[in-house]
Amino acid sequence: MTAEILAVGTELLLGDIVNTNAQYLASELALMGFGVLHQSVVGDNPGRLSDAITQALSRTDMLITTGGLGPTGDDITRETVASAMGLELVLDKDSLHDIEEFFQKIGHVMTENNKKQAMLPRSCTVLKNDWGTAPGCIIEHNGKTVVMLPGPPREMKPLFEQRAKPFLQKYCDSVIESVNLRVYGVGESTAESMLTDLMQGENPTLAPYAKDGEVLLRVTARAKTSEEALLMCRPLVDEVKKRLGDSVYGENVNSLEQVVVAKLAQKKLKVSFAESCTGGLLAKRLTDISGSSEVFDCGVISYANEIKHRLLGVKDETLSKYGAVSPQTAFEMAQGIRNLSGADIGAGVTGIAGPGGGTEQKPVGLVYVAVSDGKTCYVKRLMLGHIKSSGGSADGEREFVRYLAASNVFDMVRRLIDGLPQTDNDSGNALTVINVSENK
Ligand code: ATP
Ligand code: MG
Repeated sequence: MTAEILAVGTELLLGDIVNTNAQYLASELALMGFGVLHQSVVGDNPGRLSDAITQALSRTDMLITTGGLGPTGDDITRETVASAMGLELVLDKDSLHDIEEFFQKIGHVMTENNKKQAMLPRSCTVLKNDWGTAPGCIIEHNGKTVVMLPGPPREMKPLFEQRAKPFLQKYCDSVIESVNLRVYGVGESTAESMLTDLMQGENPTLAPYAKDGEVLLRVTARAKTSEEALLMCRPLVDEVKKRLGDSVYGENVNSLEQVVVAKLAQKKLKVSFAESCTGGLLAKRLTDISGSSEVFDCGVISYANEIKHRLLGVKDETLSKYGAVSPQTAFEMAQGIRNLSGADIGAGVTGIAGPGGGTEQKPVGLVYVAVSDGKTCYVKRLMLGHIKSSGGSADGEREFVRYLAASNVFDMVRRLIDGLPQTDNDSGNALTVINVSENK
């Protein structure tokens, strides 16, 4: 079945906003098995919108529109679609009730023009909008299907996912399921070379995506039922895990920190951070995860040497002899924060995030990270300056160095909890193992 996406809005034409709705819908529809053959954008103009709808319906089985369902004069999608399809608009009482209730809930008086949003094409299927005021709808008429969704992505996405998708499933003779494997410590090209033969398959498929110093491997299968598709994914998932070993840190998880929080909680352990160059990013990323209060004791952002010494107990001698960016300082920071907080695991990170501040001996991107459980402390030297961001949330060298430094700490904490070997993947002799009792 073919599908087409029409985004409505003059803001899109002017480049004021990016058409993320089309991107989202295109990938969702492709996963459902629809052939998306056209995407277009049209401004808030009745004539041109009408032409675009008529043209789309002449060549596609299903048209999905986004935008223009609001209460204002420039929101014209509802009436234009209805008239292009020869349907009249009628008041949908349930939608009107929902809209009135929405305004009551937020304590605002509903203005008259909001009623317009409850006027929907006769005999359409209403998509109740729990995330905003404008309901969406699905029209099935003369062998064509039109789905109207609101413009704001935070309304459009759940409305599609939870209301439209289940309805449209009847048009799909197969379902697609994916299993995501998250990999840390193996680069995209290395992962690819280890898995080349597995990437040739058509059903299931294996595809790598690089992001923020990590690799996401997605195994996808298409089958009659969701259970069948997941079953088809399984052997490939297991084979990838076998080949990449403990670099695979999770299946269908979102991040290293999510896994770390889960593992700490499971073992009833607590962690604390002493941060220098990451400036609080470790604590931020960990506390972004719900449930982190159970496992996180405290963080100290010890930017100044004075604080490293006074709060964390890093020796003056260590700072003057080896400098703040040194394995010795990272070690003492990890020990120091562990002692200060009483947490089971202490982690320290110190380095040169750049762009300034680097020297020949200590270049930008040199970072020392240390994790300690009180018995053993693992200190790792990272050379992050040469690694380029492959896109994602941590673009920009400084931000990227800090992000990778934090990710490394999370990976080391995960390995420490699970008793896995700490990897030594960056450069020769990057990992130092310190027996804590001998280094008081
Ligand atoms: P509202 O009730 O908010 O007016 P609407 O359904 O009428 O919703 P529009 O007025 O077309 O939608 O757009 C509202 C906002 O939604 C836009 O200002 C923009 O921020 C966002 N938006 C609209 N279309 C898109 C799109 N295709 N991609 C991303 N964002 C969009
Ligand atoms: Mg609008």
